[in-house]
Amino acid sequence: LETEHHAAERPAPATSTVVITSRDRVIYPEANITKGQLADHYAAVAEIMLPWIGSRPISLVRCPQGRAKQCFFQKHDAGSFGEAVHHIGIVEKDGHEEPYLYIDDADGLMTCVQMGTIEFHGWGARIEDVEKADRLIFDLDPDEGLDFEAVREAAFQFRDILKSMGLETFPMVTGGKGVHVIAPLTPKAEWPQVKDFAYRLAQAVAQNDPKHFTAALAKARRKGRIFVDYLRNQRGATAVMPYSARTRAGASVAAPISWGEMKTIDSPAHFHIGDAPELVRRTSSKTLASWGRAEQVLPDI
Ligand code: ATP
Ligand code: MN
Ligand code: MN
Repeated sequence: LETEHHAAERPAPATSTVVITSRDRVIYPEANITKGQLADHYAAVAEIMLPWIGSRPISLVRCPQGRAKQCFFQKHDAGSFGEAVHHIGIVEKDGHEEPYLYIDDADGLMTCVQMGTIEFHGWGARIEDVEKADRLIFDLDPDEGLDFEAVREAAFQFRDILKSMGLETFPMVTGGKGVHVIAPLTPKAEWPQVKDFAYRLAQAVAQNDPKHFTAALAKARRKGRIFVDYLRNQRGATAVMPYSARTRAGASVAAPISWGEMKTIDSPAHFHIGDAPELVRRTSSKTLASWGRAEQVLPDI
């Protein structure tokens, strides 16, 4: 009866009624992982994924025939997602409105998976007000050949700089090559201000330590350095969502970690599809329970 007691205390489970077809279709040929296994990952992480991805305009990396075949980055609805995937009209730079996608429950998440989605990316704002950022991200992109130790040190540098400015940050390994250092924000500053802050901080870090960092877009400038991708902080830019699977051969997963774990984690692609039970279990640990949560605003600089 103890389990019943605990179950009653938890919020309603984020379960879905969406039927996944072609469960045996191989999506990751190198790892022999199927659409069914991908769907099982998302069904398992729905409850820990939805608090962050929910009610955010999203873009999807869809690969209906698997990662090795054609994939496309989808920002708008073409009308085929049904009612669990919602629309929000957002005015684009050219002045006309486009229907962006958002989800707020497991049915929405699983509908996207049923439609061939592997990766979920999201805006840094919620649908209540897409002009106000609810997070700042420093996307640390190492040049080929740099080892993860360099990325780790860079992440701690950003943590310390942002801390000195009064911003608490949380790290995420992307499942790719790098790390995102994320400062949650109480929605207040609008995109031009947020981008300006991110740009100026990235520039300052790169000028102060040009051996290790660059904030320049030119590929040649990135040689042997970490590119501080501040451009995740402009209106309409997206970043991969926590617990999203990646299209990489090994079926890695973007995963929130603690700063303590950052000291020892071996790779930004440490977590994989199949680690979902562990990922869910981890979130109740003391260090991850408050991941991504802080009431704070950009400092005046
Ligand atoms: P890594 O750690 O390997 O850098 P990442 O998720 O940070 O992983 P990036 O290449 O640094 O990958 O980020 C690219 C960002 O650009 C993604 O976060 C995504 O939201 C966005 N993006 C990816 N593909 C497209 C696309 N086709 N069109 C527009 N934006 C894209
Ligand atoms: Mn990156
Ligand atoms: Mn990047």
